[in-house]
This record gives sequence, C-alpha cells and structure tokens, in this order.
Amino acid sequence: MNNDNVAGKPILWMVIPCYNEEAVLPLSAPLFKKELDELIGSGRISEKSRILFVNDSSRDGTWGIIRALSEEDEHFIGISQSRNRGHQNAVLAGMMEAKDQCDMIISIDCDGQDDINAMTEMVDKYLDGAEIVYGVRSGRETDTFFKRFTAQSFYKILKSFGAEILTDHADYRLVSSEVLEAFSDFREVNLFLRGMFPLVGYRSERVYYKRNERMAGESHYPLKKMIRLAIDGITSFSVKPIRIITAIGFAASILGFIGIIWAIIAAVMNRTVAGWTSMVCIVCLLSGIQLLSLGVIGEYIGKIYMETKQRPRYIINDRTWEERKRKYKG
Ligand code: UDP
Ligand code: MG
Repeated sequence: MNNDNVAGKPILWMVIPCYNEEAVLPLSAPLFKKELDELIGSGRISEKSRILFVNDSSRDGTWGIIRALSEEDEHFIGISQSRNRGHQNAVLAGMMEAKDQCDMIISIDCDGQDDINAMTEMVDKYLDGAEIVYGVRSGRETDTFFKRFTAQSFYKILKSFGAEILTDHADYRLVSSEVLEAFSDFREVNLFLRGMFPLVGYRSERVYYKRNERMAGESHYPLKKMIRLAIDGITSFSVKPIRIITAIGFAASILGFIGIIWAIIAAVMNRTVAGWTSMVCIVCLLSGIQLLSLGVIGEYIGKIYMETKQRPRYIINDRTWEERKRKYKG
C-alpha cells in the first residue's frame, strides 16, 4: 500500500496489454515514457508512477523487449500471463496488479492507436475529483465503412438491450484505485470491461480523442474475435434474447390457435383430405407450446446465469463517519 503517499502526489500506473507486439513496442514505449515524464515534470503525478506492460503470453519477442525496457528504466515494469487469455483478461490482470500500488490506472492499447497525449486531460479530470475518465473517440474517419457500420449497429443493439454503454468508448480509460477495489467484487468470467465500469457507478467524466492508425504490426481483432466480443457483450449484460424467444413463442401460440380454428372450419366445410386437419392442429399446437416453454425455461436459466455472476449487490463509496478513502488527497 502506498500510504506514504497520502500527502504527496497521486501515483499513476499505465496498464498496457501486449500480445505479439514486437514490431510496435519499440516505437510506442518511448511515447508512453515521454507522456509519463511530462505528467511527472508538470507536477501532476508522483515520481513513483509506472508503466506496466501485461504480456498476454506472446509468442514473439515481446516479453524480451519488456524485460529489456524494465532493466533500462525503473519506470517500465512488466507482468506476463501463463497463457494467452485475450485482451480483456490481460487488462484485468494489469488493473488488479496495480490496484494496491497506485492511486489511479490508465488502460491503453500498446499500438499507439489511442492518443497518448489525452492522458494529461484524463489526469486533470481525476485531480478535479473524477473517479473514472472514459476515453471516447471523437470520430471514426480512420475506420473502414464496414467497421463503422458494424460498430454503430453493435452499440445501438446493446443499448436497446438495456446495457449501459458509452458509444465509441473502448478500453482507454482512467480508473481510480477506489473504483478498482469496488470493481474487484465483480466476479464474472466473461469480461466485457466497457460495459462493467458504468455498473460500478462513481463520478465519471469523458475525454474526447482522435484515434490513429496502428503504428506497426497487425490487428489481433479479426472479424471472428470481433463477433465473439460482440456476443459476449450482449449476452453478459442482457437476458433480452431469451425474452425475444418468449415473445416469439407467445406470438406463435396465438397464430397456432388461429391455425387450429381455421383447420377445423376447413374440415367442417369438407375442403380437406382425410387426416390433414389433425396434422395441422397438432403442428400448430405443439410448435407454439414448444417455443413458449423454451422461453419460460430460458427465463429461469437467465436468472441462474445472472446469479452465478455474483456481482456485488451494492457499492458504498462514502460514509458520514469516515473520511473519503481516496489515498491521494490533494
Ligand atoms: N491484445 C492482447 N491479447 C490478445 C489480443 C490483443 O493483450 O489476445 C492486446 C494488443 O497487444 C493490443 C490490444 O490488446 O495492445 C488491442 O489489440 P489490437 O490493437 O490488435 O486490436 P484493435 O485495435 O485492432 O481492435
Ligand atoms: Mg489496436
């Protein structure tokens, strides 16, 4: 714990996930260091601030580069995961490592796509009392039409399904250690960090920035992984898809009922071949009941699913008989 820091300046840890980034790290690491130096130099943050690289079990020379950086300069530090777990888990590992060592973290990708200079504004908002500062893209000019369209549709669907999510905010954000402490009570395994932080609450702010092209190397988010993340996002925050099945089941039951009446009328009027009426009645009845039952069962599974997450049921961030926990008191 950094209790010795109570009267000093806040400690910042940058949390930077890296997976097979040997092409980009030598280019972006100096930029992170430059920003850190400027933040320290301007008196905003403590000299004890650090740049934490999280190696997501890269198969190339990434870990070697991180080790070399940490030997060169004490501001660079690194942790390495035992196997590749994906971007979200790498960010979580870094945040949990940093939680007790610093007053705030800023998570950012290592490829230089997110504007590193926006950190200054984020830290200023933290110093003004914000506990979470979301980095929001001011535009999507650098994206292809396809990416822009799918991203926008994704945010729209998620919002209409009831998830609290910020359009065009990915994982570039500042989070105070107090929020991280509360966040550590979110025990879910399928991570979709950008949807989880709004659930924590606390005072939040936004900083707008322009997103650039990757400095080098290739994206690790091909279409397949993007779809996976989108499905995780939707199913982790909403049981609406199950409700939709219930609604369809209900509608199918009504249609089935109408179908049955129609089949009986047709039979009475002798406009059918033998056996047709009973067939249609059975199909209509059963398909409606089946879908409806699926929905009902799904509703319970949805409840069980939400329960198994063991999310905290409340988070208290202030008490009248206690001083605010924020370690940094400026
Ligand atoms: N990343 C990771 N583990 C993975 C895939 C990616 O830690 O399995 C890191 C990667 O090194 C980068 C960040 O997550 O810092 C975002 O990945 P990328 O830039 O490839 O995604 P994009 O920006 O194209 O969506
Ligand atoms: Mg990227």
